[in-house]
Amino acid sequence: MADLLLGVHCSISGGLHNAFDEANQLGVDTFQIFTKNQRQWRDKKISAYEKKEFSDAFDSSAIKTVVSHTTYLINLASGKDDLRSKSEASLISEVERCTDLGVAYAVLHPGAAKDLGYDKGMEQIAMGLRNVLKATRDSNVMILLENTAGQGSSIGYDFNHLRTIMDQVDSDRIGVCFDTCHAFAAGYDIRSKEGYDDTFGQFDEIVGLEHLKVLHLNDSKGDLGSKLDRHDNIGFGNIGAEAFGRIMNDFKHLPKVLETPKKDDWDSKNLEMLRSMVNN
Ligand SMILES: [Zn+2]
Ligand SMILES: [Zn+2]
Repeated sequence: MADLLLGVHCSISGGLHNAFDEANQLGVDTFQIFTKNQRQWRDKKISAYEKKEFSDAFDSSAIKTVVSHTTYLINLASGKDDLRSKSEASLISEVERCTDLGVAYAVLHPGAAKDLGYDKGMEQIAMGLRNVLKATRDSNVMILLENTAGQGSSIGYDFNHLRTIMDQVDSDRIGVCFDTCHAFAAGYDIRSKEGYDDTFGQFDEIVGLEHLKVLHLNDSKGDLGSKLDRHDNIGFGNIGAEAFGRIMNDFKHLPKVLETPKKDDWDSKNLEMLRSMVNN
């Protein structure tokens, strides 16, 4: 089978290199990990031993791309100085871990504006990103801004937010990760061919498809425009299977990662479904 660049989010429980076992069992060629406990601030450096284990596993696997998802605690848009500097430090540490592991992309939720408001929030994010890129200037790791569902005051649900931040940072180490569930919950109706074409047309016009580096494939438990970030199995949510078939064929060249509920053997079922949609 040709490279599909399709995979899932893998667990690093018991060691970072264990993600390859899960990936190999599922027969995928791409996966996403957290490079540390994603619900804690505590950062860690990659030891020489971990680095070797990871690169050995990488070399002996069929994996083409590994993507990292940054911790959910990071909020570069925070109006609180201590939270903002903690967020920057954590993101710097993340980029360093990715560099050590040979992970190409670190996916980031842009941030939540809270009482600062969106414009000021985006300015803070851009400032934070510039600091992080400066502190890691020798790295090739790209930070990918993920579109969000728009829950609360989260920035990034509108493609224009991503463009504004990219313009302010002005670096080729910033790209975008497109999450289908988030886009749908934010009001982008990708269900029909017309809606799909319109959404990616807007994306191309505003963000630029050349900046799209990774896709998160999740169906949505929430309705169109619900702002609910609730992932569902492919074809079982409100988006439905059709849009995913289009993505599998239109974005063959980009890493695509499932973040669907990991119950029973749903990873296999979702993968099978997506693989069956690829036209040869
Ligand atoms: Zn995410
Ligand atoms: Zn989500």
